[in-house]
Amino acid sequence: PQEDEKQMLEAHSLLSKFYHHLLLNTKEGQEALEYLLARGFTTESITKFQIGWSLPSWDFTVKFLEKRGYSLELMEAAGLLVRRERDDSFLDRFRGRIMFPIVDTKGNTVAFSGRTIDADDQPKYLNSPETKIFNKSSILYHYHDARSMIRRKQQAILFEGFADVISASEAGVENGVATMGTSLTEQQIGLLKRLTDSIIICYDGDSAGVEAAFRAGKLLHKHGLDIRVAVIPEQLDPDDYIDKYGSERFQQDVIGASLTFMAFKLRYYKLNKNLNDEGDRLKYIEDILKEITQLSKAVEKDYYLRYLADEFELSLEALQQQLSELQGPDK
Ligand code: ATP
Ligand code: MN
Ligand code: MN
Ligand code: MN
Repeated sequence: PQEDEKQMLEAHSLLSKFYHHLLLNTKEGQEALEYLLARGFTTESITKFQIGWSLPSWDFTVKFLEKRGYSLELMEAAGLLVRRERDDSFLDRFRGRIMFPIVDTKGNTVAFSGRTIDADDQPKYLNSPETKIFNKSSILYHYHDARSMIRRKQQAILFEGFADVISASEAGVENGVATMGTSLTEQQIGLLKRLTDSIIICYDGDSAGVEAAFRAGKLLHKHGLDIRVAVIPEQLDPDDYIDKYGSERFQQDVIGASLTFMAFKLRYYKLNKNLNDEGDRLKYIEDILKEITQLSKAVEKDYYLRYLADEFELSLEALQQQLSELQGPDK
C-alpha cells in the first residue's frame, strides 16, 4: 500500500511535467496556450503553476503510463484513468483539457483539475476523484507554495478558483489559496490556522460568492480567526477584476479596501431587502441587532448600536432595550 501511494505520486509528478511540456512546447498544445495567453496568463505563471495540457485522445495517458511500467489498475485508483464498462478497457480521464496540478501540504502533486477550452463542454472543470492520495476537503490550492508568504505577511487570502489565485499572484499577491469551488472545511481552516490568524475572504462577486463568503466567514469566526472580506464589484470574480482594472486597483481598491466581517454583514443583510419598505427595514434592524449580540467587545456593540441609531433615526434607548431582549435575561 505504501508502495502503491509512492507509485501514484510518481505518476502524477511525471504526468504533470509532461502535460506542462505539451502545453508550452508542442503544436498540440498551441490552441490551449493561446487560450491561456488570451485570458491574460503569462508564460511565467504558466510555468510557476505547472499548468499543462492533456491531449484530446482516449489513450494517450494510458500509453504513457503503460510504457513506464505502471499498473493500470493502480492508475485507475489514482484517478488518472477510467474504466470503460463495455469491455473493461482503460481510458484517459482527462482529454483535451488545461491541466492544473493540485499539490498537497508536502508539495506532492496528488490530483489534477482539467478545464475545458470549449464553452460547450461540460463540466467546465473536471477533477480527480477522491483517492488514497487526494482528499479534496483537506487541501487548499496553492497552500504549499503560499505558505512562507502567508507566514511573512501574517495574512492569507482565500479565493474560490484556480484562475483567481494565479491572477492574484501575477498581480503581486502571493499569499492566496483557493477552496476550489466547494465550501470551506474545518480541515482547511486548520491548515490556515497553522500559519496565521488573519484571513481575507475574496470570493466571486456574484450572489453565490457573497453567500459563500458569509458562510465561510461565520465558520472562520467560530474558529477564532480574524476575518475581513474583500468585495468584488459588478459580479466579477477576482481574476475578471484584475483583467479589467489591473493589479494596482486590485491591491488597493479590493484587498486594501477589504471590510471587517461586521461591515460586510451590514451590507450583506441589505441584499434582497428594500429599506424603504417598513417591514424590510425592521427586519434589517433586527438582523443587525442579532449580530451585535454576538460581538464580544462592549465598544464594538456601542459602535454598531450608534450606527443603527444614526442610519435609521432611532433612539439609542430603544435599540438598547431591544438588544437586551434579544440577548435574553441572563446576559
Ligand atoms: P474560470 O475563470 O476558468 O471560468 P472560475 O475559477 O472563475 O474559472 P468558477 O465557476 O467561479 O470558475 O468556480 C470556482 C472554482 O470552482 C473553480 O476554479 C474550480 O476549482 C471549481 N469548479 C468550478 N466548476 C467546477 C466543476 N464543474 N467541477 C468541479 N469543480 C469546479
Ligand atoms: Mn469564478
Ligand atoms: Mn485573468
Ligand atoms: Mn473566473
